[in-house]
Amino acid sequence: MDAEVLEKYRKAGDILARVRDEASSLIDVGVSILQVANFVEETIRDLGGKPAFPCNISRDRVAAHDTPRPQDGSVFGEEMVKLDIGVHVDGYIADAAVTVDLGGHPELVEASKAGLAAAIEIVGPGVSTAELGAAIEDAIRGYGYNSVANLTGHGLGRYQAHGEPSVPNRQIEKGVELLPGDVIAIEPFATDGVGRISEAPQAEIFSFVAKRPIRAPPARALLNQVQENYSTLPFARRWLSGDRIDYSLNQLLRAGILHRYPLLWEAEGSLVSQAEHTVIVMENGCEVTTKPR
Ligand code: MN
Ligand code: MN
Repeated sequence: MDAEVLEKYRKAGDILARVRDEASSLIDVGVSILQVANFVEETIRDLGGKPAFPCNISRDRVAAHDTPRPQDGSVFGEEMVKLDIGVHVDGYIADAAVTVDLGGHPELVEASKAGLAAAIEIVGPGVSTAELGAAIEDAIRGYGYNSVANLTGHGLGRYQAHGEPSVPNRQIEKGVELLPGDVIAIEPFATDGVGRISEAPQAEIFSFVAKRPIRAPPARALLNQVQENYSTLPFARRWLSGDRIDYSLNQLLRAGILHRYPLLWEAEGSLVSQAEHTVIVMENGCEVTTKPR
């Protein structure tokens, strides 16, 4: 990997590590969720990065893709809180997550952490993503929980938050061999549910996918705002300004211009924990860009 590119990945990882560690110490029962999300996104900018996607704060059975609504007044309860943060420096992305347990299920938190540690331990050139999936599944089963089969880690590219290869959280038939210079986010999810998430009705996160004609003036204005500020990276509904935002979002979705990321949840009554780091595959082993400093 080019030295300048490596430096940008490292800087994004450094910023993320600081923000994650400060933000996770703010999370507590009664604290405003929107305030934590705003803290994360503002501190990323203060430190010289940009959010690679909205700060995800997903609770209890929701595994991923939740972020506060505009003017969201909700506060944390005695919940299992997943804080998932993305930072980019000139398009080079760091992606990491931690679980803050306010509900008294420490073993479930440990299970996803153990899955992540088991995968990181074996990452290197020539290792198959299938081996990572098997290591993650084994570690999580060791705690008596299921890993979530249909949520995976992923490759990271410039301005590309979800690329190839996919990094499974279960044993799979055929994986992809890792190469030096690959950048991957490894993100095990552990659950006391069935190990399979589905899409909830609501979505708060969207991204631009295709340029297509659109007539309605408010929708055109919103599209300009999105393209200027977020390029192809995901953005939150609460980041948008102007009139008739929900109408315009629907128009752009219907035209196939935007993609929506619905909340992803496990079966009702279950809990999900998550752990995630960004890892660069090196000639001998790997470097974790998002580890604590
Ligand atoms: Mn993430
Ligand atoms: Mn990720």
